[in-house]
Parts: sequence; C-alpha cells; structure tokens
Amino acid sequence: MNATYPLAEFPDYRLTPSQIPETVCEILDATTRKVLMKRIKQLLIKQNAILVAHYYTDADLQLIADETGGYVSDSLDMARFGNESESKTLVVCGVRFMGETAKILNPEKRILMPDLNAECSLDMGCPVDDFSAFCDQHPDRTIVVYANTSAEVKARADWIVTSGSAVDVVRHLKRQGEKIIWAPDKYLGEYVLEQTGADMILWQGSCVVHEEFKAMELVELRKQHPNAKVLVNPEAPAQIIRQADVVSSTTGIINAAKEFDALEFIVATDAGIFHKMQEAAPGKVFIEAPTAGKGATCKSCAHCPWMAMNSLSKLAYTLETGANEIFVDPDIIEKATVPIKRLLDFAKNQQQLAGDA
Ligand code: SF4
Repeated sequence: MNATYPLAEFPDYRLTPSQIPETVCEILDATTRKVLMKRIKQLLIKQNAILVAHYYTDADLQLIADETGGYVSDSLDMARFGNESESKTLVVCGVRFMGETAKILNPEKRILMPDLNAECSLDMGCPVDDFSAFCDQHPDRTIVVYANTSAEVKARADWIVTSGSAVDVVRHLKRQGEKIIWAPDKYLGEYVLEQTGADMILWQGSCVVHEEFKAMELVELRKQHPNAKVLVNPEAPAQIIRQADVVSSTTGIINAAKEFDALEFIVATDAGIFHKMQEAAPGKVFIEAPTAGKGATCKSCAHCPWMAMNSLSKLAYTLETGANEIFVDPDIIEKATVPIKRLLDFAKNQQQLAGDA
C-alpha cells in the first residue's frame, strides 16, 4: 500500500492534543431552547436566508433546517442545494470548508456560519503550501482531493471527491491509465486503493473522530449484539472497515439503516447522524461503535468537536448580526470550481448511466 512513495518522506500531519478542542455541546433549558428556535425561524424569514446543516450537527439545527425549507445532508450536497435555492443568504451549519464550498458554488450569495472556528482535522492536516510543493514534485500524477479541504487545496486539485464518489472516480481515472496523488485522508485513501488497485500516493491526514474507533472493542460489542449490522464510514481505520457490513458515506449509512431488515445497528461515524437515522428508520436501535478503549486518546468520543461548535445561540447571533460571513478569493473560486464541477458532471453521468441500464 502506498508502495510507490516512502511514508518516511511525509511530515507528521497528526494534530497535537492541544490543537483538538474538547467537544462542548450547548445545554439549554426547555424554555430557552423553544424561544431560540422560534427566533431563528423568524430571522431566517426576515433575512431571506436558508439553513443548510450537516448530518453531524446538533439535532435541533437539523430540525430547524427541515422545518423551514432548508436542507440536511453531506458537504457537497449541501452546497449543491444552496446553488438551487433562490435565497440570497445561506447559513451553513457545519465546518469551515463546507462554508467555503458553498461560497465556491454560490459566489454571488452571502454565506454565513455560526462559528468560523469550526475547523476539520483533515483540512488542518493539509496545509496548502506543503501540499502544493508535494504536488509539484509529482507532475505526472492526477491530484484527487477529498471534499474536506480548504478552498486553496481544492484550487490545486484536478478532482474533488466525496466518500460516496471516491471509489467510482478513482476507478474511472485508473481506466484512463492515470496515476494519482490522494489527499488528505489516509484511511479513506487506503480503502479506495484496496477497492480499485489504482496507483496512489496517499497524503497522511486523518479525521480525529473516525480514527478513534477501536477494533478490539468493536469485536466485543458485536458479540454482545450478534444480529446487529455494522455500518462504517470509510474515514475509519482498516481494522474497523474490515468488520463492516456496509462501508458508505453518511447518506449511504442512513439509507442502509432504512433498507436492511435488521433491527439493531452498530454505527462507526459521528453520533450526530443518529438524528436522521432514527427519523429514517423509526423503531430500530442504533448503537455507537466504541471509541474509548485501550490506548484511546479521544477528546471527541464519536462527536466532532468542531461540529459541536454549531449551537442554537451562535446561529441566532449570526442571523441577528450578519457576523461570520465566509469570503473566498475570486481567483481561488474560479480555480476550485473546475474540479468540483468535474465531480458534479461525473456524478450526473453516472446517474444517467444507471438510469439507462
Ligand atoms: S468529523 Fe472528522 S472529517 Fe468530519 S468535520 Fe469533524 S474532523 Fe473533519
């Protein structure tokens, strides 16, 4: 794996514990929560704004998005929805690269976020200058970049992919005889490499949430729930993926919960997804895959500390004041649009082919 490039050549892009904040979820009494939710709905109308929320954000934010004609989905789909909406303002509940992606696809719109400190360890672990210098050393390779990256890294890429499209895109590139630089998630990269057999050099970034799932503890949990199906996001390490019944994107995991006959599911991704899973498959039981085990270092325990920064209070403040607007350099927007559009066109063609079949 990664045989074409010595791993020792890569700097260590793992975050230090001090770079990872504690996961702090806002706790409100019932009255304050109700008042804030009502106020947010009024402000969305007043500001002609639409709320798009990621599956990993707080359930109340997802509820407001659903109840006000907004949208709850994964990162690229959120940006795509924003593109179709007529609202002049999009409020993105998620992490910063999602706000940037929304701006890239909707440059004429105002993009607001509840907290601009909401980062992502994959984005942080792929600084554009280092990455660009690395790409320059391998001019013969096609640059395939996961959506969880800064606008600048996207601008350097040939292709942007999501977890749901990565295998198909890389398989397509392999058929064209192309060799690949993959960034930033090494676990997703290993999974794609295993599925496609493509010639890939893997950047060594990782997600602090998915990396913490523990393989031996998962074996034990499966013994306690022998009929449970195991649903895993491909950002998790290989020892977790090997135990999966389904390896899929967030949307794929929600669909699997609906489609499988099983009543119990062990889920290895951010716990924020449980809100949509329960909505999609009421009556079924969802169990968090274990994070705290031997050698666990997590501060997040299956909930992303940066996603948790999206709170009702901050959202209300953003809508009241217009604070936390996302800006992206127009030149970067122009360059980053190319690989994103390439993926969107690819996905559309795939859908058409599936429809024709
Ligand atoms: S869950 Fe992981 S990949 Fe998703 S935003 Fe948080 S750190 Fe990034």
